[in-house]
Amino acid sequence: MKYQGSCHCGKIAYEVEAQIESLLECNCSLCSRRGYLLFFVPKEQIQLTTPASDMSTYTFNKHVIKHHFCPTCGCAPLGFGSDSKGKEMAAVNARCIPDLNLNQFKINHYDGKAV
Ligand SMILES: [Zn+2]
Repeated sequence: MKYQGSCHCGKIAYEVEAQIESLLECNCSLCSRRGYLLFFVPKEQIQLTTPASDMSTYTFNKHVIKHHFCPTCGCAPLGFGSDSKGKEMAAVNARCIPDLNLNQFKINHYDGKAV
């Protein structure tokens, strides 16, 4: 399935190809504040339809994940990082895909606070 996501004001928009089976809710210091509900795809399955330079970037802890957010409206629709094998991945915030009915997915809880 292809999904269209964006920040609230539309400065960051993307199209993502994904088979979403479940969503991840993490309790780390950032995810809990932002309220992310995430799914993950290889980076090549997500296409920004707005300039990457319009995104602001936040990193913390080991600074290996780039948490992108919109400098205008503050929404955080996606992030980029690598999985344990070094493959480039995108973490997509399902809350920024308006057509997605979030209630249909199983939510897996990840204990990021403990990591
Ligand atoms: Zn925005």
